[in-house]
Amino acid sequence: MHSFFDKSIEYLKGVGPQRAESLNKELSIFTFGDLLQHYPFRHEDRSKFYKIAELNAELPYIQIIGEFKSFATIGGGRKSRLVGRFTDDTGTIEIVWFKGAQWIKKSLSVGVRYVLFGKATAYGGKLNIAHPEVEVQTEKNTKGGYLQPIYHTTEKLKKKGIDSKFFSKVMKVLLVEAVNHIHETLPENLIQQFKLIDKKTAVVANHFPRNANQLSHAQNRLKFEELFFVQLRLIKLKIARTEKYKGVLLNKSDLLNKYYEEHLPFELTGAQKKVIKEIYADIRSGQQMNRLVQGDVGSGKTMVAFLSMLLAIGSGYQCAFMAPTEILAEQHFKGLQVQAKQMGLHIARLTGSTPASERKLIHEGLMSGVITILVGTHALLEDKVKFQNLGLAVIDEQHRFGVAQRAKLWTKTKEVYPHVLVMTATPIPRTLAMTLYGDLDVSIIDELPPGRKSIKTKHFRESKRLEMFGVVEKEIQEGRQAYIVYPLIEESATLDYKDLMDGFESIKRRFPKYQISVVHGRMKAEDKEWEMQRFVKGETKIMVATTVIEVGVNVPNASIMVIENAERFGLSQLHQLRGRVGRGADQSYCVLMTGVKLSTEAKTRIQTMVDTTDGFKIAEVDLKLRGPGDLMGTRQSGALDLLVSDLVKDGEILKTARIAAQDLLKEDPHLENDEHKVIKQHIDSFSKNAVNWGRIS
Ligand code: ADP
Ligand code: MG
Repeated sequence: MHSFFDKSIEYLKGVGPQRAESLNKELSIFTFGDLLQHYPFRHEDRSKFYKIAELNAELPYIQIIGEFKSFATIGGGRKSRLVGRFTDDTGTIEIVWFKGAQWIKKSLSVGVRYVLFGKATAYGGKLNIAHPEVEVQTEKNTKGGYLQPIYHTTEKLKKKGIDSKFFSKVMKVLLVEAVNHIHETLPENLIQQFKLIDKKTAVVANHFPRNANQLSHAQNRLKFEELFFVQLRLIKLKIARTEKYKGVLLNKSDLLNKYYEEHLPFELTGAQKKVIKEIYADIRSGQQMNRLVQGDVGSGKTMVAFLSMLLAIGSGYQCAFMAPTEILAEQHFKGLQVQAKQMGLHIARLTGSTPASERKLIHEGLMSGVITILVGTHALLEDKVKFQNLGLAVIDEQHRFGVAQRAKLWTKTKEVYPHVLVMTATPIPRTLAMTLYGDLDVSIIDELPPGRKSIKTKHFRESKRLEMFGVVEKEIQEGRQAYIVYPLIEESATLDYKDLMDGFESIKRRFPKYQISVVHGRMKAEDKEWEMQRFVKGETKIMVATTVIEVGVNVPNASIMVIENAERFGLSQLHQLRGRVGRGADQSYCVLMTGVKLSTEAKTRIQTMVDTTDGFKIAEVDLKLRGPGDLMGTRQSGALDLLVSDLVKDGEILKTARIAAQDLLKEDPHLENDEHKVIKQHIDSFSKNAVNWGRIS
């Protein structure tokens, strides 16, 4: 179907083939639909006029009305500039042009009344306005009260006259016709319920609002619609999945109850209880679970996993527990083994270094069903590893495993997919999680077990290096251990290794009495492992390392984390690194070492770390600093390809839209109701039309 919005912009009055080509190239605007969705990124308030006497350099862009008294070209050569003296009944101000003097002088005249729009700046004790917009005063532009749209454009386009004004002009032409083709995309009941304005009005007002109030209604409506359809799509995918894949029924609680009554080592936190409830609701339902559990380091995710495994085992199924590194697999194995023993369960471990003879036994034990918990690394994914009846797969530290690997776990058993529980200590803001992991359910453990001392974080500049060494020494003297971490931005950066090795040498000189470990990415895996083990056992007191230690290593005796060149790390990485300490009962410390000069952004990062240990707060700041695209490396993710909404600012609208989508699909999962026809049509047009203007009509 060839619709109005598919027409090439070449055919729009005022555009033509040449400008069309530039717009194609520079902004990917091809069709009427594309152009209509080239929304202004802000509006300027042209409703007020200032008097020259009122101006000062603190004001934003302002408008004044007056006339030029004279023009003069000042200076010569490259520094030459055109200066006009502009006057109203309160005073005079200099207007300056550094470029295009010839043309401007020709187009402006002394004694004509103009409206000027620009920013006053102070220069040499005087105010001036450089390169303002100048228009001859008319009745229309002095009436005021309107908001002028400002459109994004590029330098190249501007050179061809395609500036914000140009967009404003052709948009008016386009809208006159387009309004007859814009159809409502949301059902009446949603429009009523959320007091939304209709689509047509919203599109027009988002370009040319009558006033600020109407603009905000227009934006709200378009954002709601955009986020609603993203969520609708994600939730529909999830429904399709749960309908297609049945999960195993895990509903026999005897084993679990026994553990609760006889062995549970501590009272669960409220957050743990809440998340366990969410998990149980899934796995008792007969639908296949895909759940992400987010919880800060030390929030007790392992216990949540173990309690889920008990329900699986009690119901006659096996469990797999996968960690990203051998060290972590080993730590989890040791921890879980204690619990498994109490319950008389057979637990095994499988990693790359498991000898062949042992492997064979494990393979047999899994096939016969004797082994009920298998802990390991990627080795679990090998084809040879087959379970008799895998019911639950737990994946720790999700960001090291890809979606493909998660999917591979599903092939480990014949008929039904096992439930999948993914655990991560890298918190991401809720708004982002809702959009990114729309296909996973998300649970959040937002509470630490009681009695945990919050890590004290300090920011030291180079001048305090000796003081930092003193703090480290004091901790070691009290029997504790220290991490000193260096940034390694790129694996190949020789300079970074030099930093690390120089640092290592100076630390050795400063602490001649102590054994010191060094670990970095260029070492052989077994050497790394060996050094780590020495530190784990407490043989070495200081661990000098690159970020290889970032994930999961648990040395409760380590009480201080020094991060060198901390300004070079991102917030989430700093948070991960700091999480390596504070795992025991004693007070722990983190020292962020930086250079003297810091960028504003680096200052914000460091200050955030000093101010809070809450991973979710840190993630929110990170999102604000970097934007959703960079965070999580999700630039390619179509889910984040938003036109009018902003995941940082529009969290509330997103929440509302998601709930609306959930409710609607609960009531009508296949969009069969008459009143949902508009939605269905819209989704269909959207998937037929890869070009995203399909969102419009
Ligand atoms: P993480 O979420 O980082 O994986 P762990 O599961 O390793 O955290 O738990 C950290 C520590 O806290 C462990 O020693 C664990 O036994 C302990 N722990 C977990 N839950 C509780 C609780 N409710 N009360 C007291 N200690 C707890
Ligand atoms: Mg953990």
